[in-house]
Amino acid sequence: MPDPRSFLPFALPDIGDAEIAEVVDTLRSGWITTGPKARRFEEDFCAFLGDAGVQCLAVNSATAGLHLALEALGIGPGDEVITTTHTFTATAEVVRYLGADVKLVDMDPATLCIDVDAVAAAITPRTKAVLPVHFGGRAADMPRLVPLARRHGLAIVEDAAHALPTTSGGRRVGTLDTDATVFSFYANKTITTGEGGMVAVRDPALAARMKVMRLHGMSRDAFDRFTAKVPSWYYEIVAPGFKYNLTDIAAALGLHQLRRADDFQRRRAEIAAHYHAAFADLPVVLPPGPAAGDVHAWHLYVLRLAPAAPVQRDALVERLFAAGIGCSVHYIPLHLHPYWRDRYALAPAMFPHAQHAYERMLSLPIYTRMTDADVQRVVAAVRAALG
Ligand SMILES: *Cc1c(COP(=O)(O)O)cnc(C)c1O
Repeated sequence: MPDPRSFLPFALPDIGDAEIAEVVDTLRSGWITTGPKARRFEEDFCAFLGDAGVQCLAVNSATAGLHLALEALGIGPGDEVITTTHTFTATAEVVRYLGADVKLVDMDPATLCIDVDAVAAAITPRTKAVLPVHFGGRAADMPRLVPLARRHGLAIVEDAAHALPTTSGGRRVGTLDTDATVFSFYANKTITTGEGGMVAVRDPALAARMKVMRLHGMSRDAFDRFTAKVPSWYYEIVAPGFKYNLTDIAAALGLHQLRRADDFQRRRAEIAAHYHAAFADLPVVLPPGPAAGDVHAWHLYVLRLAPAAPVQRDALVERLFAAGIGCSVHYIPLHLHPYWRDRYALAPAMFPHAQHAYERMLSLPIYTRMTDADVQRVVAAVRAALG
């Protein structure tokens, strides 16, 4: 075991004094669940996205947001939703919550995101939606995917858990021509509220349905009930909704994290550039950069070992761990997990690119609390193993 005092974790949240003070202020305020700070976080998030036509709904996880978006779109039994095998299970599990079926497709090795040609080939009369993931913070090929989906009358819900801030065609993810975009503020994401998420949505009817379903199917949320002029005790239940609201304690963190999101991105991009330069001559495939002129959130820095690499992935992870460096693998593709494999009779040969990448990929630490010396240490350890 490496010395824990010198262990460089795979990820660490960057929580400043302003976040801590805001949480304390919330705790002293008497209003700790969804209230004024959650509302301000939504307003600030909309301002960050910079599109007046988009509403932002705070939720207690991205998983919740994805579920709400698909529910509001009317996805249900008999429907199919297409997504990538190269993702976390949350992307797909929400489809099953609704009794609909998941159609997994391969990734494009050039972007590590969903293969648009594979989407085209997977569309059937039952297909209702496509769920791209902006893997690692690099936008999926939206300029091709959006027109394809629209031609077939499919809804588009973006899993933007890695994609704050990311742009596609010069526009921030969250403002593209899709039905809903879902961000995650889980502990290791690009900004964090511990647990939390945000849905960006254009259609007011879709937003209204998500607001109701976010809190028990109530016609008004708790803050409105206790502050509006109409009878404070009155509400109506219009559906069997969920418990997906974000607390003000979490929103307090989010308010300050959001202000730092662009600075955080700049630091991660700097680390990525450093890695790129340091690994350019090694037997590896470097992670794809953004499309020309676009912003990559650099939530993940994923190396793929080339055939000439002197060690295999598992051995490299062990070597780095022995050197006191945490790394990870994103992801074990869904088609290898027993639930997905067995339910849909999936085999690795159906996803050659994702399978190939999975066997050779590892994610290196890339986060704002890393010092230049930390980055150098990762470079040295990787070079020692592969050089
Ligand atoms: C983290 C993550 C999620 C789930 O986010 P939560 O906020 O933890 O629910 C969904 N999709 C992807 C790709 C993720 O990485």
